[in-house]
Amino acid sequence: MDFSLTDEQEAIRAAIGKICARFDDAYWLRRDREGGFPDDFHRAFAADGWLGICIPQAFGGSGLGITEAAVMMQAVAQSGAGMSGASALHMNIFGLNPVVVFGSDAQKQRMLPPLIAGDDKACFAVTEPDAGLDTLRLKTKAVREGDRYLLSGQKIWISTAQVASKMLILARTTPLDQVTKRTEGLSLFYTDFDRRYIEVREIEKMGRRAVDSNQVFIDELPVPAADRIGEEGRGFEYILHGMNAERILIAAEAIGLGRAALRRAARYAGERIVFDRPIGRNQGIQHPLAERWVDLEAGTLLYQRAAWLYDQGKPCGAQANAAKYFCAEAGYRAAETAVLTHGGFGYAKEYHVERYFRESMLPRIAPISPQLILCFIAEKVLGLPKSY
Ligand SMILES: Cc1cc2nc3c(=O)[nH]c(=O)nc-3n(C[C@H](O)[C@H](O)[C@H](O)COP(=O)(O)OP(=O)(O)OC[C@H]3O[C@@H](n4cnc5c(N)ncnc54)[C@H](O)[C@@H]3O)c2cc1C
Repeated sequence: MDFSLTDEQEAIRAAIGKICARFDDAYWLRRDREGGFPDDFHRAFAADGWLGICIPQAFGGSGLGITEAAVMMQAVAQSGAGMSGASALHMNIFGLNPVVVFGSDAQKQRMLPPLIAGDDKACFAVTEPDAGLDTLRLKTKAVREGDRYLLSGQKIWISTAQVASKMLILARTTPLDQVTKRTEGLSLFYTDFDRRYIEVREIEKMGRRAVDSNQVFIDELPVPAADRIGEEGRGFEYILHGMNAERILIAAEAIGLGRAALRRAARYAGERIVFDRPIGRNQGIQHPLAERWVDLEAGTLLYQRAAWLYDQGKPCGAQANAAKYFCAEAGYRAAETAVLTHGGFGYAKEYHVERYFRESMLPRIAPISPQLILCFIAEKVLGLPKSY
C-alpha cells in the first residue's frame, strides 16, 4: 500500500492553494455578509482550466480521476473558502457526469466546453418540495410535443439558480402509475435556464450565503428533444451513476472545512492567554482538538480509499457512503470544537469559525441525509431488511 499523494496530486494541491490565497478570509466573510455569487473566484478557476478536471480531454477537460478532484475540493474548502468556495465550483467538477457518460458526441461537444470555460453556469434540479428524499415521487413533468418537450413543475433547494444559464433537470416523462418499475419513467435534460418560463425565489438560509439556494417554478418551459440526455425514461439510472463520486467530493470538502476550523482553533489556543497561560496548555482544550485531528485523518483515509476504488472501476458504494457520512460528521465536530475553543470570540464573525460551523451542517444534510446513508449501509452492507 502506498498512502502518499502522487507528484501530480501534490502539484494540484499546491496550484489550488495558490489560487485560493488570492481570496482571503476577509473576502469570504464579505461574501457571507452580502451574499452574491463569487464570480471572480469562479472565473479564476476557469481561467486556469480547473473546471474541467474530470471531463475527458477530447472535450477540453483534464481527464483526471475523482481522487484528483477530491484533492482539489479539499484544498478549496481547507483554504478557508469552506463550503461557499466549494459549492461555487462543485457542479462544474462532476455535475455533468451524465452528459459525459450517457450524452451523444454532439451533446458533449455542445455542452461541455462552455462549462469548462466558465461561460455557462449550471444548476442541478432534482429535489422537490413534496418528494424530499423519495426522489421517485417527483412530479415535475416533461410532455413530448413534436421535437420538443414542455416542462412544468416545482423544484426546491436548487443551488446557483440565481446565476445559472443552464440546468440539469430530472422530470417525469411517464406517470408513476404507468411504469413497470418505480425507477423508470424519469428523464434527464440539460437545457437553457430560460427565465421567461422559470421563476426563481431565493431561500434565506443558515449559511453559505454566497451560493444561493432557491425555489424554482417552471411553467411550460420548451426543451428541445436534442437536450434530453440518453434514453427517455432512464434519467434516474443516469443520476445514480454519478452518486458515489458526488459523495466522495462532499466528503473531501467536509474534511477541508474541518481542517480549516481546526487550524484556526489550534492557533487561537496557542495565542489566547487566560489565567496567565495559553488556553492550549490545558488538556481540556488540547484533547478535543487532538480528537478532531484523529477524526479528520480517519475521514481522509476513508474518502481517499473510496476515490481509489471509484477510479479503479471497482464497486465503492459502501465506502463512498461511509466516507460522506463520517467526513461530514468529522467536519461538523471540528467546526463545533473550533467555536468552543474560541469561547465568546467563537461567536463573533471576525474569527470566522462561526461561519465554518454554520457551513459544516451542509455536508451532513445534502445531497443525502445521515439517516438514509445509515439505511443504505444497514441494507446493502449488513444485509438487513429495507426499512423504507
Ligand atoms: C443548502 C442546500 C443546497 C442544496 N442544493 C441542492 C441542489 O442544488 N439541487 C437539488 O436537487 N437539491 C439540493 N438540495 C436538497 C438536498 O439534497 C435535500 O435537502 C436533501 O436531499 C434532503 O431532502 P429533504 O430536505 O426534502 O428532506 P426529507 O426527505 O424531507 O427528510 C427530512 C428528514 O427525515 C429523514 N427521513 C426521511 N425518511 C426517512 C426514513 N425512511 N428513515 C429515516 N429517516 C428518514 C431524513 O433523513 C431527513 O433527516 C440542497 C439542500 C440544501 C440544504
